Amino acid sequence: TYVVTDACIRCKYMDCVEVCPVDCFYEGENMLVINPSECIDCGVCEPECPAEAILPDTESGLEQWLELNNNFSAQWPNV
Ligand code: SF4
Repeated sequence: TYVVTDACIRCKYMDCVEVCPVDCFYEGENMLVINPSECIDCGVCEPECPAEAILPDTESGLEQWLELNNNFSAQWPNV
């Protein structure tokens, strides 16, 4: 799965939302998040983010952000 990280906070450019083929972005409290159980790992959103906030969860140190993406996408509306 891909994960939205802290560079998105207070940005929400939405470019990623428009390209996602499975519509798995959700509105978080102050950032967008990706629902890890819906993301198909296509990677098209990553270069679309002007803030470079989207990273593959294969990168190290993202456990906390993965958990936040998972929690927020369960509680907040789809965008
Ligand atoms: Fe959507 Fe693909 Fe990005 Fe996953 S990697 S959030 S499926 S655009």
